[in-house]
This record gives sequence, C-alpha cells and structure tokens, in this order.
Amino acid sequence: MNYLSKYYPIKLTPIKLILLVSAFIVLTGNFTFFTQVEKIYPSNINNAIFFISLVFFHFSLLSLLMITLTLCLPVRVVVTIFIFLTAALGYYSDQLGIMIDTEMIRTMFETNISETADLLNTGFILHLLLHGLIPAIITWLIPLYNFKLTKQLIYKGKSAFILIFIIFTCIFLASDHYASFFREHKILRNYMHPTASILHFARYIKQELKASEKHDFVGITDNIEKSIYDRHSELIIMVVGETARADHFSLNGYERKTNPKLAMEKNLISYSDISSCGTLTALSVPCMFSNKGREKFDRDASHYTENALDLLKRANVNILWRDNNSSSKGVADRVPYENYRSSKNNKSCDIECRDTGMIEGLQNYINSHDGDILIILHSMGSHGPAYFKRYPKGYEKFTPACNTLELSECSHEEIINAYDNTILYTDYFLSKIIELLKNNSEKHETSMFYVSDHGESLGESGLYLHGIPYMFAPETQTKVPIIIWAGDSADIDIKKSIQLKDVKNSHDAVFYTLMNLFEIQTDINNVAVPPLVYYKEE
Ligand SMILES: [Zn+2]
Repeated sequence: MNYLSKYYPIKLTPIKLILLVSAFIVLTGNFTFFTQVEKIYPSNINNAIFFISLVFFHFSLLSLLMITLTLCLPVRVVVTIFIFLTAALGYYSDQLGIMIDTEMIRTMFETNISETADLLNTGFILHLLLHGLIPAIITWLIPLYNFKLTKQLIYKGKSAFILIFIIFTCIFLASDHYASFFREHKILRNYMHPTASILHFARYIKQELKASEKHDFVGITDNIEKSIYDRHSELIIMVVGETARADHFSLNGYERKTNPKLAMEKNLISYSDISSCGTLTALSVPCMFSNKGREKFDRDASHYTENALDLLKRANVNILWRDNNSSSKGVADRVPYENYRSSKNNKSCDIECRDTGMIEGLQNYINSHDGDILIILHSMGSHGPAYFKRYPKGYEKFTPACNTLELSECSHEEIINAYDNTILYTDYFLSKIIELLKNNSEKHETSMFYVSDHGESLGESGLYLHGIPYMFAPETQTKVPIIIWAGDSADIDIKKSIQLKDVKNSHDAVFYTLMNLFEIQTDINNVAVPPLVYYKEE
C-alpha cells in the first residue's frame, strides 16, 4: 500500500486509524443510542455533562476494544469488522428499534436462511454500502506506518492506559448518572454499537461452550401414572403458533374480523390474558414444554432435562412433531420429528411452504396408530417482517397491505393490514385442524390446543418485530393467544371452563394442561398456575 502514500495527504499510525474509525462509529452509527439517552436524561446542564462524557466514554471503550483485538488480528481487519457490524446494527436499531442481546444472537444462529433473507432488503444493502463498504475501503487505502513489534506493543500499551484514564474520568465526572445508566437502564447499553453486541457475542460463545459440555439426561419424576378411568384414546393436535398477538384476534375483542371461521365454532375457548414465557421462539418454545415455569426456566438445562413430550412418551402416547418453523428448539429431540419447511414433505409450497401443508397425510397417521396420539404442528404463523409472504393472495382481505420487506416504506396501517391477514390465514389453518378432529371424534376424544410463542411490535413506540428482553418488553410482545377447542366426546367441560377465559394465566400452564389432557398423574408440583380447563365429572 505504500506506493499510495504519495497520492494521500495523510499517513496514519495504526492507533490513529483506530481512533479515527472509533470517532466515525460513535458519531454515525449510534443515532438510536443517543436519542434514547436523551429521552431518559433530558437536556439540562447536569445531564449535558453526562451526555458529553458518554460520547468520550463510548469512544474510549470502543477504541480500547479494537486495540485489544489487534493483538491477534491485523488492524485493518479489525476496523473493517467494526465498521460493517455498526452499519448493520445501526440500520436495524434506527429503522426497527431492534436491539441485539445474547438471546437475539442465538436466534440469528438458529434461524433458517429464508427467515434471515427476509431481513435483507434494498434499504439495508444501500445502508451497508454507504456506512460499511465505502468507509471500509477508505481504511484499506490509507497508508499506515509500519512499526517493529516491540514499538507497536509500547504504543498500544500507552494508548490503552490513556483510554482507561479517560473512561475513569468520564465516570468520575458524572458518577450518579453512570450509576443509573449501568444499573437501571441496562436496555440502553444494548444500543451502544457495536460494543454491546460484541460483548453479547462473547457471552453467547461462552454459553454455547458451556452447553456443549456433556451432561447426563435429567429425569424430572419417577412417578408417572395414567388415570385408570381413561378408557378412550385421546387425539390432541397442538399448534405452536408464531408471533401471534392476543389483541389482534377478534375472538378476544379485536374490532376486525380476523377469526371468522373460529368464531363459528362452539366448544371453543379463546383466552384473553396469557403472558408468554419469552419474546423469542428459542426461549418460549422450550419453556412452554418445561415444568419449570418462566422464572426458573434454564434454556441450556432444557436440552438435557425431561420435558412434557418426554413424559408423555413414557406414558405411551404416540407423538409426532411437524415443523414448518425453524426447529423444535430441542423440544422434539427424542420424539418423531418431520421437517415441513421444504416441498419434500410439504405439498403446499408456493413462495413458501404453507402451514396448512402440515395437515396433509395426518389422517393416515391417525389411522395407523393405536392408543393416545399427540400431534404438534409448529407453524410459521405471522413471522415478520415479511408478513405478506405468510398468507396466499386469497387471504389478503385487509388492504392496502405492506408488500415489501422494508417496513419503513409502509404506513402503520399497511403493516397492520398485512399482519392481520396472517391472523386471518391462521384462523383458516386452525379451522382445518378442527375439521380433521371432528372427523375423528367418534373414535377418539379430540381436542385442539393452540398456543402462540410470543407477540409482535407493529410500530408502537417506534418498535417493530420482537425479542426485547422480557423485563422491558411491551405487552404487544408478551400477550399471546391460547385457544382450546374440544370435540363432543372430550373430557373437557367446556361450559364450565369458559369461566377461565379471562383469568390471568401464562405459558407456565401449558405443561400441566398437556399432562391433564392425557390424564397423566405425576408427583411434580404445579408451579402455582391457574388451570386452563376443567374436566367433566366421571
Ligand atoms: Zn417466534
């Protein structure tokens, strides 16, 4: 690169390049961070000192992180990674209010390619070009001084010392503010790009390494009994929903008719006040099948701990998990699992594979199995931001619907329209399941159990999609629909159970409901959740 020196007015030391890139990142890639800080600490002289010190604090921390990484990577590689990372993160936090924490990083690694592709749109690519590629190219063109290794280490040591000094000075100058910033406004820190994400990524790697350690499988009870009164075979279809929020179901009072088919069913209860276990699929799905309850749920331990399906399998229930989402998140690791995300199994694929495709062939499965049956269908439901892809054209009832991946190009109304169309299609999907169950109600005690994993922000308070840490998550992301339909021969006392419709409840009730639906008694203590249903007297 040295031949370029004569065309360039500047030649930099590696440390100066880092400081320059750091200033660029703090000033151009942290718009959401500073606007959020300004909201919490409104303008006055005291807050102004904190605000200015925060700029230097962030700058110094970022520079320190980059200098540390140059101990094992070339400086230009380090700054390039930081520039691109900030460009990507900045886009999503500025446009969609998304913040990245450890769980979000896990989700990114577990998500399938088509879902990730939904997040790539022209706006994003343009942003990456302007804020990522161009600045990165410039850093590769700027000539750098080449020092001997010892001299480099001395420079790095001195610079690190000065940066640490600046960090402490900043904290000293506004210590009260930093105390509240670190303790009470943890969520704010997630917007510090890219520092926060790199620290979360390091935590994710640490957790993955811990999770990869060999563990013995942990049973949760030895005591499991099937009710002696249970003479009939149960046929239960459970639908694990995706991104459906309770307040957009007309069954729960939403003014638009998003559930026209389900509304015609008697023997159906829609619960209006259910809290999810998490705001991400990767947490909510394993949590709802665990007996631990939201507060004690440990995601890593869930991989080697018995869940509801393991217990039901021990009680000789025939179990089948069909997945049109990303995976069962470990829940179905020990039971039969079928992937419905491709046309190999799913016969209803157009621009994507439809949830209704999972119903095909189920009658054959039911006919060929004796005894109790539990079928779980993990749906694609209302997964964003490509809501318009989640339903066939015929279900575009609410118009104009947002028909692009770029939510910022659509009005709030268009986004809501597209989202409501996904709920309308879910209504159809669930009605088809009820139809199948009705055809089997003479031979089996049939019921359908629909549980959505988490909700969705649709632009309220500038937030989109989901995944906000639970403590700070708005109800739009945590209030989910649960629907139970019972066939005439089922043990569920629908008339009595309807009283529970508006009782505050949560995903914690799912495990116990599954046990009760199959009339299985265990010595596992209920984590103090109200029941979802009452049963008929024998
Ligand atoms: Zn989900």
